[in-house]
Parts: sequence; structure tokens; C-alpha cells
Amino acid sequence: MNTDQNALASEEQKLLACIHCGLCLEACPTYVITGNENDGPRGRLYLMRAVAEGRLEDTSSAFQTHIDRCLGCRACEQVCPAGVEYGQLLESSREVLQHAQPKSDMANRMLQLVLRHIWLSPARLRIFFGASRLFRNLGLARLLLKSRLAGLISPRAEFALALLESSRPAFRNRGTPSQPDQRGEDVLLFAGCVGEGLFARVNRATKRVLRANNFNVSTPKDQVCCGALHAHAGDLEGARELARKNIVAFDSDAPIVTNAGGCGAMLMTYGHLFANDKDLAGQAAKFSARVRDVSQQLETSGMRTAPSSGEDYVTYDTSCHLLYGQCAGDASERMLRTASGNKFIALNGTERCCGAAGIYNLMQPDMSQKVLNEKLAHIRETRAGILATGNPGCQMHIGAGASLAGMSLRVCHPIELVDQAYEHSGLYKNSHKEAQN
Ligand code: SF4
Ligand code: SF4
Repeated sequence: MNTDQNALASEEQKLLACIHCGLCLEACPTYVITGNENDGPRGRLYLMRAVAEGRLEDTSSAFQTHIDRCLGCRACEQVCPAGVEYGQLLESSREVLQHAQPKSDMANRMLQLVLRHIWLSPARLRIFFGASRLFRNLGLARLLLKSRLAGLISPRAEFALALLESSRPAFRNRGTPSQPDQRGEDVLLFAGCVGEGLFARVNRATKRVLRANNFNVSTPKDQVCCGALHAHAGDLEGARELARKNIVAFDSDAPIVTNAGGCGAMLMTYGHLFANDKDLAGQAAKFSARVRDVSQQLETSGMRTAPSSGEDYVTYDTSCHLLYGQCAGDASERMLRTASGNKFIALNGTERCCGAAGIYNLMQPDMSQKVLNEKLAHIRETRAGILATGNPGCQMHIGAGASLAGMSLRVCHPIELVDQAYEHSGLYKNSHKEAQN
């Protein structure tokens, strides 16, 4: 057994917790699609255990194929009577795989290069997102998608363009300036790399809504990416490098507020990431305990309500990481319902992943599309014109899928609808007056 296998071998007690009951199978989107035991949590746990015990090579194609096909949605954890910590076992498996994968695997090498040389460098990441925004805002992604060239590009490249295009604002934003802070609790906003790079409007809306509910919001300037992409790709050292910087940047006792389910779930795992680091374990655990979704933070103050400002019917899809990682899916839906009133239509299958799963949609396009098709079918049934979801990855993925499928659907973050409702009802003006008094 080599050193890399030890990442999984050291988790043996967690692997042994599985009692093989199979209650998780129907909750697993990939098992439901293929019907293959190895595409379900129980089969994947068998494979992990075989690798941990040295009965299966970590380079085996079965291990790689079925671990790569896992969405990491953690729906299986919720239904498991034995409390198997599947998400943590998956991260260890991906760390093993990252070292075991042949150097000739171009897609994996490209991914590791991007994660190492762009995502770990805030300056390069700013340039990357600046260029992406320019490409999007000049309409080049849209032009390429509509031009004859669309037939010449690969389906994967076409989907990547549609992802970028769907990060555009769903609404015209009048850009009400954020009001001055009032007396109230201090909170720190985690802006996120994709969040600040392509969805800065969502961060601005988050600040406006928090301030209108009397929170003093600040955005620590030395914060970096949460490390979720690194952790999902098996680069736990890269994830730790970023996590250390965030722990320093957010050094205070104030709540850490996020508006992205993926980031929030990752920030909440810092405690586990440093569990064996005697210098950082305590600090990392305290950091994770301070993390909450914006909807959870607003509920602590009894969120101000405002009537809906739009005519369209609204539906809501919970991001898996918000639902299973942060356990904030209900709070986020309640927040949205306050802003959409009787225009809210419940969506079937919100407990199921949409197929985005970080960059799963680009690495496993076929399976991702199958998972997405089910989600789009449920969205069609609602006949809603707007879908809100609390994670930029899901927002882009559902938006891209809907647009390529010819659906007329605007996709946004729930906080954008709350922000619009506040603006429409004059609540910001009132906040301003109160602040001046
Ligand atoms: S994380 Fe999701 S896709 Fe992976 S085994 Fe669990 S339910 Fe299935
Ligand atoms: S529900 Fe839990 S204990 Fe049962 S097979 Fe799935 S992971 Fe194992």
C-alpha cells in the first residue's frame, strides 16, 4: 500500500460504519440512472474499502470510473441510518485518485494546472474572471452560441459557453447604493471567487438586504477562494493552502455569511480539513462553526418582509451543498417565499442534484446531462418563469441547460428577489431615512 492509499486507509473506521442496508440507493441520482451498484453509495464504499485494505489497486479503472461519476451531492448521507460520513470519504478517495491517475490523463492534468496556477493565485484569478466577464459582456459567448460556428464546436465547449452566458443578470438592476450600516450585529461576507468574479451583483444585493435588516456588513479584503474545487478534485493540500488564508482573513468572532451553497459547505469543513493539525485544529473548527447562509443570518433578526415586485411565478431549487452540506435549504426557501408571496410554486425533486456539482458538468458531461434533464422536466411542470437557487454553479448549470433546451426561464439567486422586493416597496428609502436619523 503506498502513502496515497493511506488517505483512505486512515478513514477505515468511517468505512466500516456502513451496514450495507442499501437505504441510500434510491436517493442517489447516479444509481437511479444507471442501476449499477457501483454507481451507488454502497458500491462506492465497497470500492473505497477494497482500496483501503489493499485488495484493489488505486489505479483500477473500476475505482476511478465510479468515484469520478459520483456527484458528491451527499444526498446519501441524509438517509443513512448508520451515519456514514460519505462526503469525507469521497474527498479522501479523490485525493488517492489524484495521485494514482496516469500522467497521460490530459483532462486531469489540465484541471490540476488550472487549480494550482490560477485558482491559488488571487491576482491571476482576478485576470481570469476579468477576461471571462469581458468575453460575456461583449456578447461573444452569445454570438458564438447563435452563430453557425456553434455546429463546429464540441458539445462540451458549447455547454461551457452557455454556462458563461447564463451568469448574466436575469433582471435589469437599478443599482440602489448600499445604505450606511446601522447599529446592529457585525457580520463578515464571504464573497467567493466565482461569486465576486461573475456574480458581484448577488454580493451587492446580499449586503443591501443584510444592511436593511440592521446588520453591519464588511467584506474582509484578504479572503480567497474557499477551496471547494480543489477538495472536489482531490487536491486537499491546495484546499488547505486557501483555507489557512481565509482563517487569517476572517480572524474575529463575527458570523461568516455566504450566499453560495458550495462555498458555505466547504467553509464548514475546515474543521475536518485541519482535524489532525495540532496548531490549527481549534481555530479551524471555530471558523467552521461561524459559517451560515445569508438566509439563516436573516432569520436570526426576524427578517423584514416586503411584497413581491414581479409578475412572474417563481420556483426554487435547493443547491445540494446548501441542503445537505449547510442544512440551510429550508431557511433559504423561507426567505424566498417572503419575497415572492403567492407567486411561489413548489418544485418537485428539489432534494435531487441538478448535475452541476462544481465542474462535474464539464468532466462528466453525459451523466451530468441526464441528471439535468430530470431537473428541467420538473421545472417545466411548474410553468414558472423564474427559478431561484442559492449557488452560482447551479444557477449557471440550470440556466445553460434551460437555454440550450429552448426554455424561457430566468435563473437568479433568491436574495436578488428579496432585494428587488425591498427596493420596490421603498424599504431601502426607509432604511436610509432611519440611518440618517
Ligand atoms: S454523493 Fe450523491 S452521487 Fe455520490 S453516492 Fe452519494 S448520493 Fe450518489
Ligand atoms: S444507507 Fe448508509 S449504511 Fe446503508 S448502505 Fe448506504 S451508506 Fe451503507
